[in-house]
Amino acid sequence: GKEGGKGMDYVFKMVVIGDSAVGKSQLLSRFSKNEFSMESRATVGVEFQTKTILIDKKLVKAQIWDTAGQERYRSITSAYYRGALGAIIVYDITKLPSFEQVPRWLEDLRAYADPGIVVMLAGNKCDLHEMRSVPTEMGRELAEREGMLFLETSALDATNVEQAFLTVLEHIYRAVS
Ligand code: GDP
Ligand code: MG
Repeated sequence: GKEGGKGMDYVFKMVVIGDSAVGKSQLLSRFSKNEFSMESRATVGVEFQTKTILIDKKLVKAQIWDTAGQERYRSITSAYYRGALGAIIVYDITKLPSFEQVPRWLEDLRAYADPGIVVMLAGNKCDLHEMRSVPTEMGRELAEREGMLFLETSALDATNVEQAFLTVLEHIYRAVS
């Protein structure tokens, strides 16, 4: 259920999806532990991180699921999406193909996730502005057209990382409280 035990008022499951190497794991590690690494560690099995935050004086535990490289083979199963109330679809602003795949990630969400899921589109690696190949406007337009929230982020310098996760969690909170 959505109500958490151990003094928690709510537990919200979120998923992070998007092409391989766009920075999903680093965004999650920046948000949950304030850590960043240039090395891309392969994780084994589906993993999630948790972080507890306060919204409206309520204790909210975010349980955020990260893929273990299955996105490379597009073999993420419906179990990954089950019960998720929020999602962040990540692309890399320096890699146009990762942006062009966003509609396919949306299809997966529509196939497997709850229809009311709150979705944020995140254009990551915005610290690499000299290498940008996806204009900010393209991201914003796609997000508007598809009813997604939108931010450009950097897991490296922490730009908008908290904001991306917290905005999704606040939208979920407003929908369930
Ligand atoms: P994932 O496959 O989507 O989980 O991607 P990772 O989180 O493993 O990151 C892939 C690579 O991109 C790693 O070398 C990261 O250090 C790097 N990376 C991730 N986020 C950023 C960012 O915001 N800026 C820069 N410059 N590099 C990043
Ligand atoms: Mg990863």
